[in-house]
Amino acid sequence: MKILVTGGAGYVGSHAARTLARRGHRVVLYDNLSTGHAALAQGFPLIRAELADVALLRQALDGVDLVMHFAAHAYVGESVLNPRKYFQNNVQDALVMLNTVLDCGIRSFVFSSTCATYGIPAQIPISEDAPQNPVNPYGDTKLFFERALNAYSAYGLRSVLLRYFNAAGADESSQLGELHEPETHLIPLALDVAAGRRDHLDVFGNDYPTPDGTCIRDYIHVNDLAEAHLLAAEHLSSGGSSLALNLGTGQGHSVKEVISTVERLTGKAVRHEIKPRRPGDPPTLVADPGRAQKLLRWKATRSFDDIIRSGWSWTTRSAAKQ
Ligand code: UDP
Repeated sequence: MKILVTGGAGYVGSHAARTLARRGHRVVLYDNLSTGHAALAQGFPLIRAELADVALLRQALDGVDLVMHFAAHAYVGESVLNPRKYFQNNVQDALVMLNTVLDCGIRSFVFSSTCATYGIPAQIPISEDAPQNPVNPYGDTKLFFERALNAYSAYGLRSVLLRYFNAAGADESSQLGELHEPETHLIPLALDVAAGRRDHLDVFGNDYPTPDGTCIRDYIHVNDLAEAHLLAAEHLSSGGSSLALNLGTGQGHSVKEVISTVERLTGKAVRHEIKPRRPGDPPTLVADPGRAQKLLRWKATRSFDDIIRSGWSWTTRSAAKQ
């Protein structure tokens, strides 16, 4: 298959591109490098263009069988402060792209969605049938696009909506990893403290209704996510119907557990300070990944320790390059 990967120079997109290429698919990356990195696109044709640039997009879509769409803004906090930026890129420009995809005759689409579309869940683990009530503009924009994809089945479009829990870790080659600017995610920040690149970590709240008082998340290795994208693409190419699937491990880990695991696996201390809760953080988010297992035969194979270990290799490697 020839696959266009929007946001292919970003964190999850670059890992998915590698996984698709390793399986023999032809992959073209499409990215404006606003948050992506040319270094993560190495070895692939990269079209550097805006999502809503219809002329360039049409050229990029020539001969493409399926589109994987990752290009999005993805900071919850920023989406609250600057929702316009999120609705512009994740909805308005994304719809221009989707319409161009349709106009080019492509009817297979894999979408990078999020557990943020569920908002604060009434039940844990979260199944795909849980109500979707986002509590921030980021989640709103992702849900909007999910709904557009569902409605576009009217045009014969088939899509797989992949709702990620907390993507983490790095490719086993240590050539690829998380490179956010600014970094706001827990695991890379904790690893940076262990590596001596940051003084300390702020722990946002220790008074949540969880066993140790800190928030619990379902951390999923980025290459497990990448493999789910490959399976989703192959599901669509073999005539499979549209799906919405959670991608998580089904296991939750608290902020304190992240810190203690980083300390155990790196042998370094992670200095941290307790701070007030971060607005918009649900206490616990854990996936029920059963549907992806049943319908895609996908299951996360990398452990929580694998996530921290691969993230540590990437952190120490990228620190050595500085
Ligand atoms: N977190 C924290 N300190 C940080 C960053 C994150 O305590 O510097 C907590 C955050 O409140 C959440 C968890 O770690 O409970 C995971 O946050 P992250 O930003 O990595 O992912 P999110 O769950 O927001 O997508």
